Amino acid sequence: MKPAALPAAMLRRLARAAIRARRRAYAPYSRFRVGAAVLAADGTVTTGCNVENASYGLTVCAERVAVQKAVSEGHRRLRAVAVVGGPDFTPPCGACRQVMVEFGVTTVVLSTPAGRTQVVALAELLPAAFRRQSRRRDA
Ligand SMILES: [Zn+2]
Repeated sequence: MKPAALPAAMLRRLARAAIRARRRAYAPYSRFRVGAAVLAADGTVTTGCNVENASYGLTVCAERVAVQKAVSEGHRRLRAVAVVGGPDFTPPCGACRQVMVEFGVTTVVLSTPAGRTQVVALAELLPAAFRRQSRRRDA
């Protein structure tokens, strides 16, 4: 799917929301703080930050926190996700890309803590994604 053509003001709004969310990151182990902001089809913005755990495998990325918050608040049609780690662009990990596909995200806005942004299509980041229709049952 093509990335949604989002107005520049919306890209900035999403990036700023992700930058604010990054401040709330719980990252005492990696010290790598990440924030994310999800834009739902109805315009709602939901944020998330990474939440680490002493049992490292339980750590959840900012993007998945934001997507799961949005879905739990009733937003299942998502358009875009902004993500900011730092100090350079921080693309989402493979697990987060897969979770974004599930809810129709087409656009990923990579941002830096300073507010520089780069827009990429989720389809470029995760070509041939595993989808609902990939789950054919055996006869
Ligand atoms: Zn991730």
